[in-house]
Amino acid sequence: MLIYLIGGRGTGKTTSAKILARAVNCLNPQDGEPCNECEICKEILDGSLTDVVEMDAASNNGVEDVRSIRDEVNFLPTKAKYRVYIIDEVHMLSVAAFNALLKTLEEPPEHVKFILATTEPQKIPTTILSRCQRFDFKKITNENIVKRLKIICKESNIKITDEALELISVLSEGAMRDGISILERCSQENVDEIGADLVKELVGIPSLEYISKITKSIFEGNEIEALEVIDSVINDGKDLNNFLWEVIKYIKDVLVFKVSGKLSVYNKEELEEIKEISELASKDKILNTIYLLSDLENEIKWSNQKTIMFQTGIIKACSTSTIDGLEELRKKVDDLENKLNSGNIPVTKTPVKQQVKLEENVAPKKAEQATSKASKPVDNNSGNSEIDWANIINKLKTSGKVRLYTSLANTKVNQQGDMILEIIFPNGLTPFVRSLLEDSSNKKDLTDILISETGKQWSIRLVDGKTGNNQIKPDESKAKSNINNLGIDINIIE
Ligand SMILES: [Zn+2]
Repeated sequence: MLIYLIGGRGTGKTTSAKILARAVNCLNPQDGEPCNECEICKEILDGSLTDVVEMDAASNNGVEDVRSIRDEVNFLPTKAKYRVYIIDEVHMLSVAAFNALLKTLEEPPEHVKFILATTEPQKIPTTILSRCQRFDFKKITNENIVKRLKIICKESNIKITDEALELISVLSEGAMRDGISILERCSQENVDEIGADLVKELVGIPSLEYISKITKSIFEGNEIEALEVIDSVINDGKDLNNFLWEVIKYIKDVLVFKVSGKLSVYNKEELEEIKEISELASKDKILNTIYLLSDLENEIKWSNQKTIMFQTGIIKACSTSTIDGLEELRKKVDDLENKLNSGNIPVTKTPVKQQVKLEENVAPKKAEQATSKASKPVDNNSGNSEIDWANIINKLKTSGKVRLYTSLANTKVNQQGDMILEIIFPNGLTPFVRSLLEDSSNKKDLTDILISETGKQWSIRLVDGKTGNNQIKPDESKAKSNINNLGIDINIIE
């Protein structure tokens, strides 16, 4: 008999395998559960029963390791009813080892049960999978992790704050084992009560104080203070990658707060701080800072000059987020565009505006808007119909596609015929946003919403409204020669 347990790390596969091993052998089972008190249960629990064999395929993955199993299975169990083999991380077995075991796994003797556990079922031969009774283990919810940890704390007399428990559950990412080991680590400290700060310190999360301080400095354009924070973080021996990741997460929370006025993970003082910071910057500024720091995150990941790159990146963030002139400039461009759209003034020759000129040439905007209000903006024949882009972006938000929403929030679209939809990034297209939009599941989400809103499939082009055509590489120039005429850089993602 083959039983197959599939699930992420720390979701309870091995624990369940051991319970199963006792349940099938228990002398006094109660409703299918092992009694944990009979001779057999006790011996399995303390690991002395030779009929239950546990093997970690991650460290014993060779042919010799499985040969003993292959030879043993023919013998009857010494004491228990069944010989039970628990093979953990079974996908780690070498191909040769798998082959050596295949026959046994395919037709195990009556008195043998195999329990295979893995995090990666796709690596297991289908001949084996098809013979298994399969059980899938899901990630454990934060709520249930908290519940379980509370019980452990009560039993072991550990005092801990709710906030700390909550934080541990978040850090565990659905793996109970991780939650328990963080708790264990914390309980070794000599404190009356475990608080969230202790958890952060032991896990190596830089304190929120540093994170909020550097965020504030960035939005105030205070480079000196920002650099001081970096120094303190380095002096505390914290990892800069982690720190940056936490800062990005924090700024994202600032954005969420600015948009919704709500946040759940922070306490009252922390929320007060976030509110203050959120008032320092516009939504655009906050978004741009997130993009900039995400790019920085990718850059420093592979760099041996982390500190210097980090410092330079933060200085850049400090200065770009304070150029209010840029904001004003953009507003002016937007104004101009609106005027152009309404057909009030003649067209000039900057790239972004040329976009508009094209639209102008195709059809007068005013008439279009009038029709698009009256009916859904789908028109398969003319190719001039207007997509209600603001509505689509809003749909992304309401359907919880937050990353797509934030990436596309300030974009415009330009329809080319009735097949191609250009998404224009007036502030430039960062590598971060590009990779996000090229991610297949995001692409699918966007396409799905477009289909449901417009009734058809669009080929999407991402257009950097800032760079103009001077970044087109020579080898691409031929293919893009007609695009060059538009004065914009076009990248086709589909
Ligand atoms: Zn028992």
